[in-house]
Amino acid sequence: MADEKFVGTPKKATTHTNQNEDLMFEKSSPGKKAYRLAELDVPAIDAVALLGSEVRTDLGVMPELSEIEIIRHFTRLSTWNYAIDLGMYPLGSCTMKYNPRVNETVARLEGIAEAHPYQPESLSQGCLTIIKMMKDVLVEITGMDATTLQPAAGAHGEFTGILMIRAYHESHGNARKKILIPDSAHGTNPATAAVCGYEVANLKSNAHGMVDLDELERMVDEDTAALMLTNPSTIGVFESDIKKIADILHAKGALLYMDGANMNALVGKARPGDFGVDVMHLNLHKTFSTPHGGGGPGSGPVACKKILEPFLPAPLVVTRPDGSLSMDYDRPQSVGRVRMFYGNFGMFVRALAYVLANGPDGLRQTTEDAVLNANYIRAKLEGTFELPYKTQSLHEVVFSDKLQAKNGVKTGDMGKRLIDYGFHAYTVSFPLVVQGAMMIEPTESESREELDLLIDALKQIAREAEENPELVQTAPHTTRLQRLDETTAARKPILRWKGPVAPHPVLVDTVEKEW
Ligand SMILES: *Cc1c(COP(=O)(O)O)cnc(C)c1O
Repeated sequence: MADEKFVGTPKKATTHTNQNEDLMFEKSSPGKKAYRLAELDVPAIDAVALLGSEVRTDLGVMPELSEIEIIRHFTRLSTWNYAIDLGMYPLGSCTMKYNPRVNETVARLEGIAEAHPYQPESLSQGCLTIIKMMKDVLVEITGMDATTLQPAAGAHGEFTGILMIRAYHESHGNARKKILIPDSAHGTNPATAAVCGYEVANLKSNAHGMVDLDELERMVDEDTAALMLTNPSTIGVFESDIKKIADILHAKGALLYMDGANMNALVGKARPGDFGVDVMHLNLHKTFSTPHGGGGPGSGPVACKKILEPFLPAPLVVTRPDGSLSMDYDRPQSVGRVRMFYGNFGMFVRALAYVLANGPDGLRQTTEDAVLNANYIRAKLEGTFELPYKTQSLHEVVFSDKLQAKNGVKTGDMGKRLIDYGFHAYTVSFPLVVQGAMMIEPTESESREELDLLIDALKQIAREAEENPELVQTAPHTTRLQRLDETTAARKPILRWKGPVAPHPVLVDTVEKEW
């Protein structure tokens, strides 16, 4: 802690900073228990005699604690984390919006939560109806012809979509060699292309941060399988020439893949199926409000045009002549299964609850509010921070640290300082096309009051960067730990308790050398 250095006034308290570390193992003492069982009134079973060497008899050192000590330990740990239920996540690219509680209530209904994937179809008509409705909703929202809900995340959806593109070209006798990807793309795009066996060709953006049509024309050839395009792009800009881009590709037999993780800027306003997209994924755990982060389940449905429908993963839900729903496994040209069973079913339930609760007008309003909020932040902070692309913003805005870097204050420093003001950091140093990027996506969830708090905090930080750069360079000051050695934390994570003696290398205060 470096309280003496902290001079700014945080608007909100960040975390519960109880100095008592309350480490489970240190508090342990022999014989303490968190439970009380009745006396055994049946003969004891010898587990080893029953199960043989499978039984682990040496349980290692386990902490022995009372119930209240355990509860306080975990509750206290939870207060050291930041959460969407505590405040805003201005993370760009990742759409961290509020997840309405009604979604959770619906997903926990017994008939839904307890359904078994091997339950016969005759007893699963309700679950199949949810899958069918979610697919129909996505077809309507995207303007595409067919969907699969199987992929478990956005990147997994990309993988599925590119496998389908590969199968499509193979069915025409040649899988082709390369995939074009703009330099502003999310890192998962080139990774996906490479994993699917394609070469990645880097497409340079023009001065407005959009695809350069001349460059595209020059690069597309008969070896090009597809262009993977994020629209709106990662800098929050709508590719206004998207139809021309599609035409240029189609003229050479190449396809247009749209990374639709940013659909929250388009839902109810524009449909990719109408502007030439052949296949795309959506992130239910971004646009459709189901929780994400922390490694929870995700869902990255893929939607495609008719020409790609035969290649969708099997099974697909179909309506039988008698009106009942069924899973169709007989799909000879399918790329195969990409996920066990039907995908992360609970996520479809949450997303469908969100869609039905909003209705078409509500979804359109959501999109408008998300774009309005991003533009409010842009208008209020333009001048305080450099805005590298002046093109109209949609759901997110990218500033840079250029003005503050003159005083040695980098985007990472200001992101960390924002933590002292009670906010999660914005996205730091991404996209790579912007040096020192500061990427902010407020989402529609935030009120004007909350946006004003964020704007005030960022203006205050910009003032600090002028008047007292060291304060920002050494932030955060109000968290339990100051600066972590992030490289070591990522490369050599220590994931379990290793005893009280050795200092935890990840927790050593070090100032990062580089961002
Ligand atoms: C989040 C995101 C992805 C990846 O989605 P995951 O569910 O994290 O795999 C891909 N592209 C863009 C533009 C994204 O924002």
